[in-house]
Amino acid sequence: MTELLHMKDCYLRDFRAKVVRTGENFVVLDRTAFYPEGGGQESDTGYLEWNGQKSVVTRAEKKGEIVHRVDKVPPLGTEVTGHLDWDQRYARMRMHTAQHLVSLMTMNLFGVTTVGNQIHGDKSRIDFHPADFSEKDLKRIEEESNRIIERGLEVKIYELPREEALEKVDRRRCDLSRLPASVQKLRIVEIDSLDFCPCAGTHVKNLKELGRIRILEKINKGKDKQRIVYTLV
Ligand SMILES: [Zn+2]
Repeated sequence: MTELLHMKDCYLRDFRAKVVRTGENFVVLDRTAFYPEGGGQESDTGYLEWNGQKSVVTRAEKKGEIVHRVDKVPPLGTEVTGHLDWDQRYARMRMHTAQHLVSLMTMNLFGVTTVGNQIHGDKSRIDFHPADFSEKDLKRIEEESNRIIERGLEVKIYELPREEALEKVDRRRCDLSRLPASVQKLRIVEIDSLDFCPCAGTHVKNLKELGRIRILEKINKGKDKQRIVYTLV
């Protein structure tokens, strides 16, 4: 198993690691800070460096271990330095944290559940059900979310035993029905006493880092389902 450095420290952008498995166009490291695609957040990109050589990481995939797709494969056993495309990753950290906040506000204000999301650096989207937001509702979600951001609340990441986590998490907020029985510890992303959600994604430390949320549009996605598209300004 690859040690996942980003699970403990979302702000790690450079790291040392050892090549433990290689293939024609991929490499597995003993540890990595490259976030693999999952949970609506895209894979990190960046590069690896060793002995004056350089290889571009185009994608990281979770397949039990983390497989890094590269354009040049370093030899087995090589010590490499990994570098993330930080601006891109940080933009997604801000967007992902904003998603948690908007999902919380829509649940609190309108009782709707988040059923999907896609995080991008420039704009992101969240799908809700059952939802039928008016323009006035969208304004309200935006305003209430920004009011919370102004409070500068901390975002904490920690692990909880399964039972304790299931007790704490509001089922309308996070759908945990497909959580495998084998998972005994959950990684919780908490917005200071307001929001608890198990999530493996990367997040900022304080809501102040978000700036302001601006909701761009809503799109109907079939019966009782609506998508909200937002950006950060
Ligand atoms: Zn999340």
